[in-house]
Amino acid sequence: MIAATRTPSRVGIMGGTFDPIHHGHLVAASEVADEFDLDEVVFVPTGAQPFKLDRAVTTAEHRYLMAVIATASNPLFSVSRVDIDRPGTTYTIDTLRDLHAVYPDAELFFITGADALGQILSWKDSDALWDLAHFVGVTRPGHHFDTEDLPPGEYSLQEIPAMAISSTDCRKRVQAGKAVWYLVPDGVVQYIAKHGLYVDPATFQHPAE
Ligand code: ATP
Ligand code: MG
Repeated sequence: MIAATRTPSRVGIMGGTFDPIHHGHLVAASEVADEFDLDEVVFVPTGAQPFKLDRAVTTAEHRYLMAVIATASNPLFSVSRVDIDRPGTTYTIDTLRDLHAVYPDAELFFITGADALGQILSWKDSDALWDLAHFVGVTRPGHHFDTEDLPPGEYSLQEIPAMAISSTDCRKRVQAGKAVWYLVPDGVVQYIAKHGLYVDPATFQHPAE
């Protein structure tokens, strides 16, 4: 009997601060999953981030739980704790190495915003990144994308339907007492209200944590 060849699974990795996770993130993950025929998309909330050390970020557990609530109903989506459980600053190279260990046979697709992909050359060990994953840059309205310095063939671009939603805007709305219904999933609206996120200082994480 000839053993059936197992096609390696295709796993998307959606890293983000997710403070809070919103429908832009979910649509982006869903569109990329469809376009690249992914078997799974893993959302990976960051620990401390090199580019976000200047502002108060919500504690990792709250951001993780909001990601779980937002993704729970989609059989393709899951959430990983690798970045929030690893001490110190989150670097994408570590995220990819850890997830490669979790999915040793899978082809990894790192999904990131056009803004972040543009900065990729300044990331720690950027050369090694291309060996670990194919990079998918998602474009959103109002973000110019400069690919001049990026290695051809190592990345793809994917246009996401006009979803001009950002976590920054969601946080500002909550702080101003405005609604975030329909920008984030219903369960996330309720979670934010229940815990006083973006209003109660006790919910902020110290940058060094
Ligand atoms: P912030 O406003 O705090 O920077 P954000 O909305 O950009 O938050 P992040 O957690 O930083 O959210 O985003 C994670 C990833 O999702 C990034 O690569 C980002 O570019 C991408 N992303 C964020 N919002 C959208 C959107 N509306 N459409 C497509 N991609 C998005
Ligand atoms: Mg951002």
